[in-house]
Amino acid sequence: MLKFTPILLAILYALAMYRFSVWRTGKELDQKSTELADPHLKRLTDRLAASLDLHRIPVYVYEIDPVNGLAAPDGRIFITRGFYRKFQNGEVTGEEMASVIAHELGHVALGHSRRRMIDFSGQNALRTALVMVLGRFIPFIGIWIANMLTSLLAAGLSRSDEYEADAYAAALLTKAGIGVEPQKSLFRKLDALTEKRAGMAPAWLLSHPHTDQRIEALEQLERKWHAPS
Ligand SMILES: [Zn+2]
Repeated sequence: MLKFTPILLAILYALAMYRFSVWRTGKELDQKSTELADPHLKRLTDRLAASLDLHRIPVYVYEIDPVNGLAAPDGRIFITRGFYRKFQNGEVTGEEMASVIAHELGHVALGHSRRRMIDFSGQNALRTALVMVLGRFIPFIGIWIANMLTSLLAAGLSRSDEYEADAYAAALLTKAGIGVEPQKSLFRKLDALTEKRAGMAPAWLLSHPHTDQRIEALEQLERKWHAPS
């Protein structure tokens, strides 16, 4: 029994840390975000809203630099300041931003966001627990194995969610008359962005399926939709 005490402690620690980080993420989002007020983007999100019979789609800017979109468990949609800046300086088009918002709406509509929050906060907790356990039994490379296992698990958890959210976004963007092309062009841009900073990609990008596979999945959808029936 005594032998397993460190493992038990690590698990308890991870659970506590997970709880704390869910709470902290929610608080952090509240404190560090403001509603996006951009007339160009609003015209586009209004088209998405009209396609969903909604009055409007509020989008919030989260004040951090890494390029990211996020759907919170309460259904709010965030884009990061870093991402919005890319739109402002012309690196990313309004239609491409709309494709990210549509993708995040997909996570909300399909009920992924709660699970994604677990991804978001749970990964760090799991990593810590694994480092504590593996680091104890396998010196030096234990930490490396723990990191790899966590990334693999995260990738497996979120893969199918990403494809589903992409498909939802593709349907919504098509209905809104924006089309699937901005989704694909943004993936190509994000790919280039990650390559430039190889080894520094944020965890969420690592946990996403490879962009060519996502583009391929979108093209399959387009072929299906445009096939004569
Ligand atoms: Zn996603």
